[in-house]
Amino acid sequence: MDLNAFERKVRYDDVRFVRFLYCDTSGIIRGKSVHIDKLVERARGGIGLTVAMPAMNMLDQLQPVEGLGPVGEVRLVPDIGSYTRLPYAPHSASMMANMVTLDREPWGACARNFLERMIERARQAGVVIEAAFEPEWSLAVRKEDGSCVPVDQSLCFSTVGWEASVGVIDDIVAALEAQGMPVEQFYPELGHGQQELTIRHATALRAADNHVRYRDTVRAVARKHNFVASLAPKPFADQAGNGCHIHLSVWDASSGRNLMAVEGKPNVLSEFGRAWVAGVLSHLPGLVALTAASYNSYRRLKPHMWSSAFGCWGFDNREAAVRIASVLWDETKPSLNMELKPSDNSNNPYLALGGLIAAGLDGVDKKLAPGDPVSVDPGALSDDERARRGIRRLPKTLAEAVDALERDDMLMRALGDILSRTFLTVKRSEAAAFGAEDEAFELAHHFYKF
Ligand code: GLU
Ligand code: MG
Repeated sequence: MDLNAFERKVRYDDVRFVRFLYCDTSGIIRGKSVHIDKLVERARGGIGLTVAMPAMNMLDQLQPVEGLGPVGEVRLVPDIGSYTRLPYAPHSASMMANMVTLDREPWGACARNFLERMIERARQAGVVIEAAFEPEWSLAVRKEDGSCVPVDQSLCFSTVGWEASVGVIDDIVAALEAQGMPVEQFYPELGHGQQELTIRHATALRAADNHVRYRDTVRAVARKHNFVASLAPKPFADQAGNGCHIHLSVWDASSGRNLMAVEGKPNVLSEFGRAWVAGVLSHLPGLVALTAASYNSYRRLKPHMWSSAFGCWGFDNREAAVRIASVLWDETKPSLNMELKPSDNSNNPYLALGGLIAAGLDGVDKKLAPGDPVSVDPGALSDDERARRGIRRLPKTLAEAVDALERDDMLMRALGDILSRTFLTVKRSEAAAFGAEDEAFELAHHFYKF
């Protein structure tokens, strides 16, 4: 779109500040904003950003990453197609931004560009990726002493929980819809105060952009209602964790066919789909560093919590890391898709989805086989039986996951030099920082920041 026409549209929206947003190495959403009077210049030339920012961990402790220090600048250049007015903030709008070098090249530390590169890799393989993030989160009230408690003690899918949150949910849905995110389902989930509100799948980049917007929207609207919403993986140690499973389907770029499905056989995974899943399983130990990316994530990934703790796949198996979801009866297109369960809202959705695409494509490329689907709770099998079936425990800590990522040559190469070095350093610093503190410190920081 012509930038002057764009500026007229933004003025018509009565916007004063436009935020240029990015999700950082830690999974934190950050950005800078520009006043409408300077929008055209900054939309074209970007807003300046110190090269140090990707080396910042979630405690704002700058980590020693070569090249990411106090000297040097990049530009935050917005994707104008991602412009949305923010219904929860006065005179405000946002755009998702890429980090671009002063030579106008995509910067190696830019997570959004990593996803773009993986989408391009998929395009070269002749496929298009559709994805949906399926977020769960906790609604809480702040007590006078500053601590937060769940808004209800409701049971799973119980109508009692519905009444506790109906007003704020209605406002959140309105705000999501106003930003062009079609809402699919809502229900009170298992944990006290836990909510699940899903939006429709979209092409990969759009899905990740949507999820960034979603996280901001939920927190902001809850705040207006004097609630606190937390999307942390395990905000309350004694309650069910908040997953953000990633649903993904792969479509033939020329025929528009769902490559995971088999014509006329609704719940059969195609050869292509099997190779894709095998790729995901083969990279899972390192991949979870990208998808379950915070220290708090590993408090969630435990057996028998429906969050998955083992690297296996199964049809409608909610304890398997990869669930093949049975198709819905009345979809116009075959809806067979894979769901990655060891994923939560503390990840950077661009890194998580990009890594997942790289892993799936690798399986297709190498024609890998995923082994037999598992039709029991893998956590209920003996160690011997799991070993016999080749079912491995997922990393139990962030530090283990990051080590596994470092050993995964394919993922490291896909991330590229700067992003991989930065990610390993930042995440290791978080593992060390939270490892040195108590549970209350960990919960408080993750509760507030996600
Ligand atoms: N809360 C579960 C998790 O941590 C997911 C429950 C479900 O929707 O199956 O992933
Ligand atoms: Mg759920």
